[in-house]
Amino acid sequence: MGDMTDLFPTDVYATRLARAAELCREQGLAGLVIGTGPELAYLTGSWLSSHERLTALVVPVEGRPVLLAPETDIGDLALSALPHLDVLISGWVDGDDAHARAVAVLDDGPVALGSSLTTLHVLRLQELLDAPTLPAATTLKELFMRKDEAEIEQLALAAAAIDRVQERVPSLLREGRTENQVAADLQALILKEHDVVDFVIVGSGPNGANPHHSHSARALETGDVVVVDVGGTRGPGYHSDSTRTYVVGGAGEAPADAAAAYGVLQAAHAAAMRQARPGVTAESVDRAAREVIAEAGYGEYFIHRTGHGIGLSTHEEPYIMAGNDLVLEPGMCFSIEPGIYLPGQWGMRLEDIVVVSADGVESLSHQQRELR
Ligand code: ZN
Ligand code: ZN
Repeated sequence: MGDMTDLFPTDVYATRLARAAELCREQGLAGLVIGTGPELAYLTGSWLSSHERLTALVVPVEGRPVLLAPETDIGDLALSALPHLDVLISGWVDGDDAHARAVAVLDDGPVALGSSLTTLHVLRLQELLDAPTLPAATTLKELFMRKDEAEIEQLALAAAAIDRVQERVPSLLREGRTENQVAADLQALILKEHDVVDFVIVGSGPNGANPHHSHSARALETGDVVVVDVGGTRGPGYHSDSTRTYVVGGAGEAPADAAAAYGVLQAAHAAAMRQARPGVTAESVDRAAREVIAEAGYGEYFIHRTGHGIGLSTHEEPYIMAGNDLVLEPGMCFSIEPGIYLPGQWGMRLEDIVVVSADGVESLSHQQRELR
């Protein structure tokens, strides 16, 4: 995934690295040891994978970060911002003690360990570090949650890409076609607009009542309510995620109870959009959507949280759910996706990605929200 043209300007990564070191200093840590995956991509633009061998970005609170990678994989780093950053790139060969070299970069003190480091790496690092360890996800939480301008632009491009896929869905949903056939078409459409297909959900009729149904051999019938939830990855690794609900044969063919429930769903979505703004808690946004659905008598059929953060991973903080008293801040990006699921009959969900602005939220999704 990604090539040079998909990188942000070097100063974006330089600022993120400096901010990561600053957060460690503020939290009294000696520094970070980050493995491969979204955290490394966020800080350096690299999606390197070194399989079971250790690749570690070591960020001390003072001084130059070090990127340790197997000598065989160093060439791949040319695809990232690393050659342009003030980071020492250091190769290791089988037989070297790569973990000891990582630990040697850091002064004494607690160390934050990256989310993707496997147990073997974590246990070895803990053995060598004479200090407590904690999750880097916690240390870097505010960096990941509050998207910078460059990231918001990428998420907007991803949202526009998946809007174009949803635009094509009505022409794919014809009586007699199977969910699998529709899903195959959707995969091709997603790939046209993205580098990777993350997931495709085509839940028709009773299958739609299972929020995580993928797709099956069930053939579509006129009047079926169909949940289509699709997502992909594009650019420097940002994700799209969009759900719309359709009716085979057109909205006029919808069962009467489903048509009425869809109005409730739209009202719940709108209530969550109105509630979301800086200074309110994540759980209050969930409550706003849930109250509308509960008042209409469908409370027990809204069986998941209202949303999740999105960025270099599809599901991340802030989670929009009961019990999350996290206070929303400008720059946070997350989904608003209430749903109603009537077991054995139909399901419906309406999902947009929003970004918190100075006084509310702005939707990055612009696809129309009617049942069609
Ligand atoms: Zn989704
Ligand atoms: Zn989602």
